[in-house]
Amino acid sequence: MESLRKLLAQDEPLIIAGPCSAETETQVLETARQIATNKKVKLFRAGVWKPRTRPNNFEGNGEMALPWLQKVKAETGLPTTVEVANAEHVDLALKYGVDVLWIGARSVVNPFSVQEIADALRGVDIPVMIKNPVTPDMELWVGAIERIAHAGISDIVAIHRGFSSFDKTQYRNQPKWSMPIEFRRRMPDVPMICDPSHIAGNTLLLFHVAQTALNLDMKGLMIETHINPREALSDARQQITPEELSQMLATLVYTKIAASESEANILESLRERIDKVDRHLIEILAERMDAVKKIGEFKRDNQVTVLQMGRWNEIVNNRIWLGKSLGLQEETVKKFLDLLHIESIQLQQGVVNGTAREE
Ligand code: PEP
Ligand code: MN
Repeated sequence: MESLRKLLAQDEPLIIAGPCSAETETQVLETARQIATNKKVKLFRAGVWKPRTRPNNFEGNGEMALPWLQKVKAETGLPTTVEVANAEHVDLALKYGVDVLWIGARSVVNPFSVQEIADALRGVDIPVMIKNPVTPDMELWVGAIERIAHAGISDIVAIHRGFSSFDKTQYRNQPKWSMPIEFRRRMPDVPMICDPSHIAGNTLLLFHVAQTALNLDMKGLMIETHINPREALSDARQQITPEELSQMLATLVYTKIAASESEANILESLRERIDKVDRHLIEILAERMDAVKKIGEFKRDNQVTVLQMGRWNEIVNNRIWLGKSLGLQEETVKKFLDLLHIESIQLQQGVVNGTAREE
């Protein structure tokens, strides 16, 4: 197949679709046939070894399912991808001519597993997609990518699939969008796609998550698709039919990074405004921190506590009220104040304890 990077460099996002699990030959082939009628889809996914959080759930058909994927490719022309979690999986996937491998979120948390996969891949030329770890740990994600890259794999793609959390939210896995953005800042050469199915966990939220990912310039989507989602042996709530997939792909707005020349000029002048405001914001921040420092010196000299809850409450209430009168959301103002407060407390602790860093 064409390299994944090449597919990702095209204008249209890379669409990967297929069932969570390869359940039966008929289910795999029928799903693939229907998916293949949509030319936007470029890669067929199916889980053959399923990492299940709890035992006694369907754990995949293993090697038996790999010839079904060969049939998918022979019949529809779609290249295929499966999840691998150990060296044996890698060897079998290569033996049966799987085109792209992916490493799942539960494996990425374990450097032993990732290293085992990396060692099995040494000297092999195959694209590898690496999901974020289940926990929002940037270093684990970066580390997994480095391990696979050090094994000599050059075609590496990151998949954002959200993060599990103790708190129950509307998402199955919270997207925490700032994290994939920070990842891309740190690893600018690794293209990123999104798996909205595992973020949403249900079909209602799927479209919204997929559109948000495209708006954030993610280069593709992996969408779990099944001929009969309700009967699926895994992830039944989040899978859609091939027909629903086509509707979704036709409805998504494919935002582009580069605007036309006239659009670019408008964007440029709007950005000039942001640049100017940011400059003010930074100058004002410096002024505020200077005032915080002076107060810190006063507190040190007069042995007054750094944290003054009464004053903090007064600031929060007053600033939220002010923000509201200017059309700002309470949550936005509160987050901003929290950030300022943490920095201010830290600075004053430094002044009072005599360990202040020189700004
Ligand atoms: C999957 O893609 O079916 C899967 C198990 O995903 P994740 O590793 O993101 O949980
Ligand atoms: Mn799944």
